[in-house]
Amino acid sequence: MEGRIIKLTGGLYSVQVGDQRIEARPRGLFRHHNQAPKVGDLVTLEGSTIMEVKPRHNDLHRPSIANVDQALLLNAAAKPEFSFNLLDRFLTLIESHDIKAVIVVPKIDLIDAQALAKLKQDLAYYEPYYDVYYVSTKDASTFNSIRQTLSGKISVLAGQTGAGKSSLLNVLDPKLNLQTGEISKALGRGRHTTRHTELWPVDGGWLADTPGFSKLTFDHIEKYTLPHCFPDFVALSSQCKFRECQHLKEPGCAVKKALEEGKLLPSRYQNYQLLYQELKDVKRY
Ligand code: ZN
Repeated sequence: MEGRIIKLTGGLYSVQVGDQRIEARPRGLFRHHNQAPKVGDLVTLEGSTIMEVKPRHNDLHRPSIANVDQALLLNAAAKPEFSFNLLDRFLTLIESHDIKAVIVVPKIDLIDAQALAKLKQDLAYYEPYYDVYYVSTKDASTFNSIRQTLSGKISVLAGQTGAGKSSLLNVLDPKLNLQTGEISKALGRGRHTTRHTELWPVDGGWLADTPGFSKLTFDHIEKYTLPHCFPDFVALSSQCKFRECQHLKEPGCAVKKALEEGKLLPSRYQNYQLLYQELKDVKRY
């Protein structure tokens, strides 16, 4: 039989097979090859033994989850103040793992109509590449379209502290919020806590109970691959004079041309430059 690993605690795996949940252990071979199955894996079972892990389409390490379909990237409209720099940094991180990003803007009730209109105008730039959702806990119906994107997928949450993760979880499933709250409290208590990752069933899909991306670390990205993490740049790059254009000082660059013509959000290009510089300065060992 085939199933999906949805939980790992103390070497014991919970595998969802249809409506059934089976407790299973991997056969010894995996340990030998250092290829332990992980949460998110599609596996074949014989009885309560995991026999085979299907090829992964991506693989995260912290938290350890495979086959993530999408990241809900939360950037609050206010408190903390909306930051295009943080948005672009998180988008880059998510793209670098080959995961689809969905932009969620919580707390829209905290800014006035004019500020919201301006934010929407700037974020419209992203809409050809990413779905953007504006939500407020004051109106639970604003979350309905997010619910629809969860179906049939493994999703993780991303965003800085205070971006609205716990409110989102609370709306999606109050039980889940309680669980994640308890886990973070437990982790804060220290070293004796067992590391635990679990996928929760939400709206016909699975949601990871630990944030997929909370730390912004880029040491796995080479600067030459950075342009590939910007889908808007990728769309333009076929018109760049040079095939591997980095969109910086090269002549005949379609990205810089778009910037000059006002077709590219200036902050977007600025954040690209900053990230490029940062990757250049990273010491690699
Ligand atoms: Zn270029």
